[in-house]
Amino acid sequence: MDVQMLIGGGFETGAEAPETILNPRTGAAILELPEASRGQIDRAAAAASKAFESWSRTTPAERSGYLLKIAERIEAEAAGFAALEALNCGKPIQAALNDEIPAIVDCYRFFAGAIRNMPAVAAGEYLAGHTSMIRRDPIGVVASIAPWNYPLMMMAWKLAPALAGGNTVIFKPSEQTPLTALKLAKILAEVLPEGVVNVVLGRGDTVGDALINHPDVRMVSITGDIATGRKVLQAAAKTIKRSHLELGGKAPVIVFDDADLDLVVSGLRAFGFYNAGQDCTAACRIYAGEKIYEKLVADLSSAVSTIAFDQADDSANEMGPLISRRQRDRVASFVERAAELKHIEIAAGGKPGSGSGFYYQPTVVAGALQQDEIVRREVFGPVVSVTRFSEVDQAVAWANDSDYGLASSVWTRDVGRAMAAAARLQYGCTWINTHFMLVNEMPHGGLKQSGYGKDMSVYALEDYTAVRHVMINHGG
Ligand code: NAD
Repeated sequence: MDVQMLIGGGFETGAEAPETILNPRTGAAILELPEASRGQIDRAAAAASKAFESWSRTTPAERSGYLLKIAERIEAEAAGFAALEALNCGKPIQAALNDEIPAIVDCYRFFAGAIRNMPAVAAGEYLAGHTSMIRRDPIGVVASIAPWNYPLMMMAWKLAPALAGGNTVIFKPSEQTPLTALKLAKILAEVLPEGVVNVVLGRGDTVGDALINHPDVRMVSITGDIATGRKVLQAAAKTIKRSHLELGGKAPVIVFDDADLDLVVSGLRAFGFYNAGQDCTAACRIYAGEKIYEKLVADLSSAVSTIAFDQADDSANEMGPLISRRQRDRVASFVERAAELKHIEIAAGGKPGSGSGFYYQPTVVAGALQQDEIVRREVFGPVVSVTRFSEVDQAVAWANDSDYGLASSVWTRDVGRAMAAAARLQYGCTWINTHFMLVNEMPHGGLKQSGYGKDMSVYALEDYTAVRHVMINHGG
């Protein structure tokens, strides 16, 4: 197993307090990894700054070639990456191998192509005698900080557009899930010039804090909690850093009375519980039309009760555990508080798993009302709430009545109704008759307290580059 950080092309062990990395399926320790010292962070920043001088002057075609090599190496070692992700996050290995790795490889390949084709306003004479042109230049050293739910994928979403744009990076994985980042660091050291990517380990309030406040860092890209996003903004205010924030969600799912109920139930079974619901787009806040409400709750509850987890034969597992005991207890406490309310029915699940792993039963909380905590706060676990609505306006208003604004979906057979609702929803994405589907060509990112900045797509390249105007006085 690769256990060392990558700093300036060399491998080092952290010099500060170790963090115990756990296997969430069993609760057992895998290993201990010390975090980076201030001196190591400074050296990573110095290496990234030095590498920026030459990396920022490479051509798009050259950077494209590097990204294609990274994609090829991940693809060649897909089984090893999937096994590590399964070990560190508890994901069913088939999900890591067949869903995540292909999307990760495709992310590097997408940006390898996109950087060679950046659109811009045409150069021309917008003032007589003067020719104007637009440049898209890199920003500098980017500190990229990732969460624990999709460690290698979040690394791809952050590294690929930053590198394609000509930036250099200091990457910090979540302190809970660093293993695939360390394996990729080995490949990055072989493929990329020294210092272009540095990987440092550590907790948020120590290493993360040092990165977001570092004077050599020009941009911070973070996926995490709203509270963490606020800290990034406070730090950014001191040095006026660019920031890119992906801060969670509480996705509303509006199911109209005319929806194809079988499609809805199979969709919610999949998209509400994928990755044990530890997904910022999870289909977790269901609003059901009054005519289909009872049947939806009944059918969804029986479908959800068949989701397989904690089976000895991993190929049978559809869902893994939560990432930690703390996260499982947090999920359990949300459901316990909801269950105390008279109008709530726990229609499926509602209990932690029985073994020592951090499992929680797939859970349906029926009869939830708009003001209930379970409807308003991000649970980040295998729990969905169902709320009854009678009028379209009410459903759209409730869906929009949230601090979050990342993802949403609308389920109906009426195209006009779907489009009208989609136009009114204040979310970075609205799916119609599906949920959760992401493609590298399309942007992912939020509104409101879900943050700003886009992952994937050419819009991410815009975020990781600066628009500049060059004007020539040619006197003609
Ligand atoms: P978190 O905010 O605690 O941690 C995320 C990362 O930020 C970690 O690497 C952590 O070490 C670091 N961090 C924490 N405090 C920091 C600080 N003061 N300074 C700098 N870095 C700091 O979140 P988490 O618990 O790891 O992840 C779950 C959260 O992420 C959920 O709220 C989820 O919704 C969100 N999320 C959002 C998206 C999205 O695309 N919007 C995707 C995945 C996860």
